[in-house]
Amino acid sequence: MNVLVINCGSSSLKYQVINADSEEVLAKGLCERIGIDGRLVYQPEGGEKETTEADMPTHTEAVRMVLDALVNPKTGVLKSLEEIDAVGHRLVHGGEAFAASTLITDEVVAAVDECSDLAPLHNPANLIGVRACKEVLPNVPMVGVFDTAFHQTMPEEAFLYGIPYEYYEKYKVRKYGFHGTSHSYVSKRAAEILDKPYDSLKTIVCHLGNGASICAVENGKSVDTSMGLSPLEGLVMGTRSGDIDPSAMEFIAKKENLDMAGIMNVLNKESGVYGVSGVSSDFRDLEQAAKEGNKRAQIARKVFVHRVLKYIGAYAASMNGVDVICFTAGLGENDGSIREMICNNLGYLGISIDKEANQVHGEEKVISTSDSKVKVLVVPTNEELAICRETVEIIKNK
Ligand code: ADP
Repeated sequence: MNVLVINCGSSSLKYQVINADSEEVLAKGLCERIGIDGRLVYQPEGGEKETTEADMPTHTEAVRMVLDALVNPKTGVLKSLEEIDAVGHRLVHGGEAFAASTLITDEVVAAVDECSDLAPLHNPANLIGVRACKEVLPNVPMVGVFDTAFHQTMPEEAFLYGIPYEYYEKYKVRKYGFHGTSHSYVSKRAAEILDKPYDSLKTIVCHLGNGASICAVENGKSVDTSMGLSPLEGLVMGTRSGDIDPSAMEFIAKKENLDMAGIMNVLNKESGVYGVSGVSSDFRDLEQAAKEGNKRAQIARKVFVHRVLKYIGAYAASMNGVDVICFTAGLGENDGSIREMICNNLGYLGISIDKEANQVHGEEKVISTSDSKVKVLVVPTNEELAICRETVEIIKNK
C-alpha cells in the first residue's frame, strides 16, 4: 500500500510517497511559491533532487505537478496513479472535535473549517490541500491527522486557563497543544528503543525546532504540553516569545503605539531567540555568534535553556516523576551543546549524560549513562511516517 503524505501551507505543499508495507520513502519534495510563480522540488528515492520552475496559480496545479512527477516514465516512482492507495493530510487544529485521526468526509472538512478561527494561518491552508487532492484524485480515500489530537487526553486541570470559565464554554478558549504527531511518535519510539511497555512510562518529550514544545506523556497519553490555544505559548522559540506576562503586551502596545495585530506580530515574528539575540532565529548562527563573544547570543541560548528546564521540572512534578526524557526536531536532534546545557541541570532527577554519546546528530541514541536514573534519548521525529501509519490504520478499519 502506498500513501501520499501531504503537508499543505498557504503557499507551499510538502509531500512524500511512502510504501506503507516497507515504510520506505519512494519520493519526496515540495511545491513552493504557489500562487506567486511556482517551483517543484522532486526527489525519487536514491535519485537526484530535481527543481522545476512551473506555473502554479493554485494548489490544484501543484498537486497535479506532483502526481505528474511521480508517474514520469523516466524519474517517476509509480507506474500509474492507481498505485496511490490513500492520501494522509497533516491538519493542524482539530479543536475538541478530533481526538484521533479520521477519514476525511465532507462533514470532516466542514468541522475542520469550523476550527479555522482557532488556527487562521493553518487550517484554511490545510483544507486547500485537501480540496486540491480531492479534485485530482477523487476516488482515493483521504485521512486527516491532527497536530492537536494526541493532546486531547489532557485533563481539565492541565488544559483550562485561569480565566472566566464561560470563555471556555462559549469560545472553547483552552490549551490544545501542537506537534502532537511528533510527541506521540517520539514517545512511542523511545519505549520501543528501551524495550519498555509504552503504557507504563512517564516520558517528557522536548520537540526543539524553530517551533518548540514540550509534552508530558504518562502511560502513553499526553497529560500536559507547553503550547496552548495557539503555538505561541510555552518555550522561547526561534521567533516566538512563548510564555509572557499578558500585561507586558499592553505596556509595549502603549509605548510603541501598536494595536493588537502589531503586538501579535512582535510576539510571533520578532521575539524568541531572534528577538533576544538580535542575531538570528537559527541556533547554528547563535552558537557561532556566542563563540565569537556576542553577549546577546549567549544570553538568548541561556534564556531558551532556562525555559526548557522550567517545563521539564514542572512536568516531572505534575507527573510525580519521570522515567524518560527525549530530545527531537532540528535542534533537539542535532545540538549536543544545548542538550548538555539542559541535562547538566537535571542532576536532581538522577540524570547523568554520557558526553560521548551526546555527540550524536540525527540518530536514535540513548545519551544517558547506564546508571542514570532517568533515561535520556535522542529520537529523530518522523511526522510523515507517523501520518502514513495513522492513514493505514484508519483505512484498514474503514
Ligand atoms: P521547524 O520544523 O520548526 O521549522 P526544525 O525542526 O527544522 O524546525 O528545526 C530548525 C532548527 O534546528 C534550526 O533553526 C536550527 O536552530 C536547528 N538545527 C538544525 N540543524 C542543526 C544542527 N546541525 N546543529 C544545531 N542546530 C541545528
